[in-house]
Amino acid sequence: RFEGVEQGPPIEVFQLNKLFIDDTFKNKVNLTIGAYRDENGKPWVLPVVRRTEKQMAEDESLLHEYLPVLGLEQFTSASVSMLLGEDNPVIAEGRAFGVQTLSGTGGLRVGAEFLNKHLKYTTFYYSNPTWENHHLVFMNSGFTQPRSYRYWNAETRAIDFDGLIADLKGAPENSVIILHACAHNPTGIDPTHEQWEKIADVMEERKLFPFFDSAYQGFASGDLDRDAWAVRYFVKRGFELVCAQSYAKNFGLYNERVGNLAIVMSDAKYVAPSKSQLTWIVRGMYSNPPAHGARVVATALTNKHLFDQWQVRDHIKQMSSRVFEMREALRSELVKLGTPGNWDHIVNQIGLFSYTGLTQRQSEYLMEEYHIYLLRTGRINVCGLNPGNVQYVARAINDAVTK
Ligand code: PMP
Repeated sequence: RFEGVEQGPPIEVFQLNKLFIDDTFKNKVNLTIGAYRDENGKPWVLPVVRRTEKQMAEDESLLHEYLPVLGLEQFTSASVSMLLGEDNPVIAEGRAFGVQTLSGTGGLRVGAEFLNKHLKYTTFYYSNPTWENHHLVFMNSGFTQPRSYRYWNAETRAIDFDGLIADLKGAPENSVIILHACAHNPTGIDPTHEQWEKIADVMEERKLFPFFDSAYQGFASGDLDRDAWAVRYFVKRGFELVCAQSYAKNFGLYNERVGNLAIVMSDAKYVAPSKSQLTWIVRGMYSNPPAHGARVVATALTNKHLFDQWQVRDHIKQMSSRVFEMREALRSELVKLGTPGNWDHIVNQIGLFSYTGLTQRQSEYLMEEYHIYLLRTGRINVCGLNPGNVQYVARAINDAVTK
């Protein structure tokens, strides 16, 4: 019975977010949860999303019938094209397809269960550090051997590339390697193109399977193609792979749970049996996905005018530029204050997060003394900063570092 249920540990990011909400201090700052905020610290519903939703509300041809188990075809094919580039030969050859999933997390979950059940993979590698949910999702999908590869060098505040390569070289054949497609969470540091080439060399040689996690395409640099470079490079090299795509950040559709699991195979004849097995995985997990967010994204990706508005003219550029500006602003305030240490990594990192290098003690000091909430690893959500609070945050960091 229920009396045997033990209290589980809290999820740090949600716990800190709640502490922030309950804090009554006027100048409190929330740098915890990974969601976009505008220059006034407010959430932003993208204008293309609002517009599409208004049109959908009036469209009486839209019904609430079940979607197919693998999702809305228009959405999954638009997602695969966005990831791989619409002219990618693997699409024309029928070797790539998508499965609509419950955002990026759902893509990881369905993909991992498929790899475990049907390719019999049991070992997975995640970067140290990584998004804290990778471990749990893979273990819940049937993987039994969790391992990590080195990624972050705390001293240089940069990628530990030699460590990464050494760990991949030591990985047993058929290990699944989780790779962040762009805007590595939490460090904000991505491998360079040359480094990706070396990673691909080792993975080919060691017969390791790439599982890309693409939660920030377009959001990271403002350029969809640039942010998909690594995935496309692996495809060009002839890898079979899977990639979980999330539309939480780039469309701001966090709670709609819009995602896609893209799968690239070496031969089109493997597609039909794999789709049939994926159908059974989804059937046994949640039966079929929700329609609303997928319709919004499918409409925006396939309508030229809306797509231009989202991609070229403003939305993703606006969000990524604001993040860049805040990185610059924070670094320049710290330099102005003469805060000990080098703060260049703040501007060299990309995406929503900065791994500041602040210690756990310093991070806790910021929360206790200044009501500035951040993860204990020193990870901050950069767009929690705005012109109104960046000086306050910089002064607080200066105090934490120098005291
Ligand atoms: N992977 C990474 C690296 C992420 O940062 C996130 C979002 N925090 C996700 C996956 C998945 O998020 P969601 O399920 O909301 O799409």
